[in-house]
Amino acid sequence: MDYGILGGGALGLAAAYRLTQAGHSVMIFEQETTAGGLASGFRVGDNWLEKFYHHLFKTDTTAIKLIQELGLGERLEWSHPRTVCLVNGQFQQLDSPLTLLRFSPLRIDERLRVAAVGAMLKLTNSKPYEGKTAEPWLRRWMGKRPYGMVFEPLFAAKLRRLPTSLRTTCRAHQPGGRQSSARHARRNSATTGRWTLGSAHQPGNVDI
Ligand SMILES: Cc1cc2nc3c(=O)[nH]c(=O)nc-3n(C[C@H](O)[C@H](O)[C@H](O)COP(=O)(O)OP(=O)(O)OC[C@H]3O[C@@H](n4cnc5c(N)ncnc54)[C@H](O)[C@@H]3O)c2cc1C
Repeated sequence: MDYGILGGGALGLAAAYRLTQAGHSVMIFEQETTAGGLASGFRVGDNWLEKFYHHLFKTDTTAIKLIQELGLGERLEWSHPRTVCLVNGQFQQLDSPLTLLRFSPLRIDERLRVAAVGAMLKLTNSKPYEGKTAEPWLRRWMGKRPYGMVFEPLFAAKLRRLPTSLRTTCRAHQPGGRQSSARHARRNSATTGRWTLGSAHQPGNVDI
């Protein structure tokens, strides 16, 4: 059968791939000059940069399987970028349980509280948080100061507004959470380096 797919983003490309595997004929219509949609990149000199920053985690097994199936597994580079928080003009590392415990802008009792809530979020499934919104929940359980210092700026940067309606199930990546972040199949190492630098002012990213 002949198929036409509107849009050469990840979905359109994957659908076309599966359809052709099943013996169908596919035509993709893409309005941009490059495929990839939101996940595409653009060239700056010899390097490729992403239009939007993306994470791929080791738990994203479906995507990883597809990348390997496409023969791009060798080009998938797993990295542990250093993630920092800018507090009063100083970079403070905040990307693991240990760096959270050393995170001096927060008092020790606040750090322990954030660590306990982070561990709880990591260990539980999303059911208890369904129907709850992130801001009041995080303020209540992590405390007002940790929320204001770490999460509020993150939400504002990511969503361009305060998260009054952001659901708690859209959890922020906790310090010490899914640590194995990686880039998509890299084009070259310079791209990877730049991306890491670009995200360095954020202690995590909101998972939506
Ligand atoms: C800032 C940001 C960060 C993100 N981070 C992550 C992440 O870390 N991990 C993750 O898994 N996902 C992330 N995402 C989401 C991910 O990018 C998208 O879910 C995914 O790329 C969507 O793919 P898609 O093919 O459904 O749509 P799109 O990528 O939007 O592709 C749609 C394509 O259709 C084309 N098109 C639209 N209309 C027409 C038309 N009329 N004619 C021809 N072509 C048309 C568009 O040009 C585009 O190429 C992020 C997204 C953003 C914006």
